[in-house]
Amino acid sequence: MGIRSTIKRIEKLDKNFIWHPFTQMKEWKDEKPLIITEGSGSYIKDISGKWYIDGISSIWVTVHGHRKKEIDDAIKAQVDTISHSTLLGQTHPLAATLAEMIINISPEGLSRVFYSDNGSTAVEIGLKMAFQYWQHKGVEGKTKFLTLNNAYHGDTIGAVSVGGIDLFHDIFSPLLFESLKAPSPYCYRCELGKKHPSCRLYCLKKTEAIIKKHHKSLAAFIIEPLVQGAAGIITAPDGYLKGVRRLCNKYNLLMITDEVATGFGRTGKMFACEHESVRPDILCVAKGLTGGYLPLAATITTEKIYRQFLGRYQDLKSFFHGHTYTGNQLACAAAIANLNIFKKEKTIAKMQRKIKLLQKELDKIKDFRHVGEVRQRGFMAGIELVKDRTSKEPFPMEDKIAWKVCLRARKKGLIIRPLGNVVVLMPPLSISVEELKSLGRITTEALKEITER
Ligand SMILES: *Cc1c(COP(=O)(O)O)cnc(C)c1O
Repeated sequence: MGIRSTIKRIEKLDKNFIWHPFTQMKEWKDEKPLIITEGSGSYIKDISGKWYIDGISSIWVTVHGHRKKEIDDAIKAQVDTISHSTLLGQTHPLAATLAEMIINISPEGLSRVFYSDNGSTAVEIGLKMAFQYWQHKGVEGKTKFLTLNNAYHGDTIGAVSVGGIDLFHDIFSPLLFESLKAPSPYCYRCELGKKHPSCRLYCLKKTEAIIKKHHKSLAAFIIEPLVQGAAGIITAPDGYLKGVRRLCNKYNLLMITDEVATGFGRTGKMFACEHESVRPDILCVAKGLTGGYLPLAATITTEKIYRQFLGRYQDLKSFFHGHTYTGNQLACAAAIANLNIFKKEKTIAKMQRKIKLLQKELDKIKDFRHVGEVRQRGFMAGIELVKDRTSKEPFPMEDKIAWKVCLRARKKGLIIRPLGNVVVLMPPLSISVEELKSLGRITTEALKEITER
């Protein structure tokens, strides 16, 4: 079959049978889909043979690049042994080995790993653990969660209940459990009308007022540390995260950090919490855990919490939660290889210079007429486009302005994706200096041609 008819066939099958995530399928039907068939390093290739820089790490997961030999080999070797066995009532060497490796790199105090298979489940588990912890402890009334406006913790109903992105979440409100909302540290559009740094983190004061009033009913504060990713790479000011930890200590709330996006080097340290020496009570990880190869997640907690679940069989204190593919062997093999590469290649040390380079590239566009703000934390960057810089008036949704910029970038060989009016850049940690410069150049050109014309 010729390439044209192959493409036609796949396009037809896709359009006849697939319902895509976060996609208006009516528009999808009329678009030419990007069909990816291969990856290598920082690049992915489409079916017609064109290579693109993977500027979003295939939705924030790729760490050391595509087809990384060590991870490929680990999975291949594991396939020849066993691909899956359960962690219900049995164990396996990979899950055990990986658990120790995770604890060794996690913030101090964390000592227990509960596996699952995606970010949303890691969060659900964290919420249930925190909730049940207080029940077992015999503290009554601590049943609610404090979360931030603009928070994103996943798409399952529990995760949505602690989410704060109205666009995704409003429609489901009758299904959700109630959670309390604190102000988002979104300085560019401060919801409290303040300016950083003269505000001296006024949002924390507001948050303290909420906690002071409600702490008796609050089990935990759940937060994406340093960066609210899905809301548009909203970066919190220095000291904010530490301030949240202080409030949790003062009012006896557990702190759940959702590092599903920020974990595994994304922000320039292994975990975002490290930037402010914060020790969470519960840490949720997923996306980068397997280097972007296979679905695996973990909810990591302290002995203090773990111990509350110990008891006699008939006490029913067990943590009644588990997913069928929990601790899958292939996924664990990939994760072990992934973490070993961090050590062997000094990935995080090597990233530092590239983080500065990305900043230099972004500096070139920060004064563009329609660039409201450029935000960066490590290898997470967002370019917020605005219709008017002075008034910060957003582009209307129907303009799909950021999407147009991304489509233009795609023509030029770079895959990036928008979140609302924010163009997101999230390259693999392994991206080379040259590739990073190309990413910067193409982004600049695409902006010049779409918004700065
Ligand atoms: C992606 C993400 C999730 C959800 O992870 P899934 O694997 O898509 O369920 C949760 N929290 C944060 C911060 C994320 O970025």
